[in-house]
Amino acid sequence: MGLFGKRNKEPAPPPRRKVTKVSRNLLELIYQASRSQHPHEFAAGLRAEGDTLTEIVVVPTQSGRVSAHMQLWTLPIDRSVVGTVHSHPSGLPLPSDADKQLFRTFGHTHIIIGEPYAPGTWRSYDFDARPIPLDIV
Ligand code: ZN
Repeated sequence: MGLFGKRNKEPAPPPRRKVTKVSRNLLELIYQASRSQHPHEFAAGLRAEGDTLTEIVVVPTQSGRVSAHMQLWTLPIDRSVVGTVHSHPSGLPLPSDADKQLFRTFGHTHIIIGEPYAPGTWRSYDFDARPIPLDIV
């Protein structure tokens, strides 16, 4: 015990929008898009209205052999685009090192979906690649 009492070294949370929900329609769209891209990756931005993810933002297509995944780096700066979604055709919806780097750089709410692209095959993560819950509405 010192003169200064308890030291609170906890950093303030970043001033980011809090998204806690995802619309069922958006999930259906993500399932369909991921299936149609399989065995290639599907990747897009995620737009939120208030606290709910509602829309996919299509990533501009580039010529050459740039993976859909890497094209996420080209997402426009837009305050309503709060994160990304991409598929893992190999199955497991776990963030790779490249995913973690992307999450840290862009937005705050990210979804990874694994094959077979159905309910229960996706997970959501925050900017630090920590799993976060999203309610389906
Ligand atoms: Zn990935």
